Amino acid sequence: MQTVDFLSRYPVGEPEEVSIFETLVHDYPPKHTSDDYRVIESNLPQITDAKHTELIKHEVKLVELTGEWLQVAQQQDPEIKLILEKLDKGLLTPDLANTYEINEGILFRKFQRNKKNCKAPIVPRNYRWVVVNSIHEAILHMGLPKTQDKILEKFWFPNMGKFIKKFIENCVTGKIAKTPSGKKQIQLHPIPKTDIPFDTVHIDITGKLSGSVGISEYYVVMVCSFTKYVLLHYTRALTAKAAINAVSQMTQLFGAPSRLVFDQGTSFTARIFTEYCAQNNIKTHPIATGASRANSQVERYMSSITNLVTVAQYIKKQSVRQLLPKIQLVLNSTINRTTSLSPIELLTGRKPNIPGMITIDEHISPPTRSSLIDLRSEAKKNIDRQADYELKRYIGKGAQIEPLKIGDFCVRQVEPRVSQKTAPKFKGMYQVVEVLPHDRYILENLNSKKRVKYPHDRVRKINQDISLLPQLLDEDESEEEYNL
Ligand SMILES: [Zn+2]
Repeated sequence: MQTVDFLSRYPVGEPEEVSIFETLVHDYPPKHTSDDYRVIESNLPQITDAKHTELIKHEVKLVELTGEWLQVAQQQDPEIKLILEKLDKGLLTPDLANTYEINEGILFRKFQRNKKNCKAPIVPRNYRWVVVNSIHEAILHMGLPKTQDKILEKFWFPNMGKFIKKFIENCVTGKIAKTPSGKKQIQLHPIPKTDIPFDTVHIDITGKLSGSVGISEYYVVMVCSFTKYVLLHYTRALTAKAAINAVSQMTQLFGAPSRLVFDQGTSFTARIFTEYCAQNNIKTHPIATGASRANSQVERYMSSITNLVTVAQYIKKQSVRQLLPKIQLVLNSTINRTTSLSPIELLTGRKPNIPGMITIDEHISPPTRSSLIDLRSEAKKNIDRQADYELKRYIGKGAQIEPLKIGDFCVRQVEPRVSQKTAPKFKGMYQVVEVLPHDRYILENLNSKKRVKYPHDRVRKINQDISLLPQLLDEDESEEEYNL
């Protein structure tokens, strides 16, 4: 499932698979244990929940690993010590030796991640659990890909993928909010393809987040279409006023966006909202109901947010409102699968630290300074590749994506809201008079000559020889048209 997908999409590089450690050690979990580490060691994977909490409290001191500490810990790890010795005596082949680097007496591993050269200190075996736990907790129990990528920003150890997978499988907290599956929204046209941060923003409102009776709490969710940076705005009511407040909060931070994309929610279609947008020179881009795939940028976050709220409230009793900053930070600090970067890194060039997660002394692991130009072109490539992949997958599914041409005949799907169960699902006959971008058409009714704008996935092409078909009558044009 996710694991296979993840590894193929975000290869950590061969080192993980053909590590020298494989030849040096054979089993997991470790057998060698020094007295100093026994507390942690005895708590390794089969940990109970109560002990788990106790252990975390115990380890708050370990929030930043100093160089000295790391050096000592590495020296006490037989495998790492052996590599250091072999490197020192020149006993490793140059190829293998090249995958290591010693910095201030600390052994680093060089590896490839998302096609970039990285290096990170090797975590001694006895501390791997603590490192994984700290970071997995800091990102509120998000899954394998995000946990692994966040760890690799600072640390490396062999067979990390397997270790984290096992860790997460045994994690009780994460299970309580598991989404049914990695169901992914198909995204045919990320609208539009801009590589400018906060130029196009997708906006939506979560479902009710509070479990309490009588309390309605929501987040207005705004996602930058390029960086995937998420801004959350807390509200007690689904109103246009709340939507305006959210957009002005975003405007204070990043300026007014050029374009807002949203579903046909009443908060966004309300007159005061569209007027607000017009006054601020924000173009609005409503998405047709039923074609909401186009707004998947933001829909993708909805189930994540619900899960994060559930997990966070399980860990500590706190209100939806109190949780907002934490959830926003987690979403923005973890890798996005479309861009292969965390939104904060893409926006600022810096890999973000999350309060509570283990980090390393800056002296040993200086913060990386990536060029924003490079990051942006990388993200752009990844976004395009992803769109291409999803399009192929969509076509592969046998969907009728073969576009209609001017002059083609078709019927159009009846708006689901208006259609009764027994009523025909399509009506027609129409002829395509214009092909618009993003698989939309202007259709002309053959009888009434009335024109409508319709998306491709809601029309069915009809054999050219319409005289052979039973007459499809279509008198009722009163229903609302798709507003694209
Ligand atoms: Zn977990």
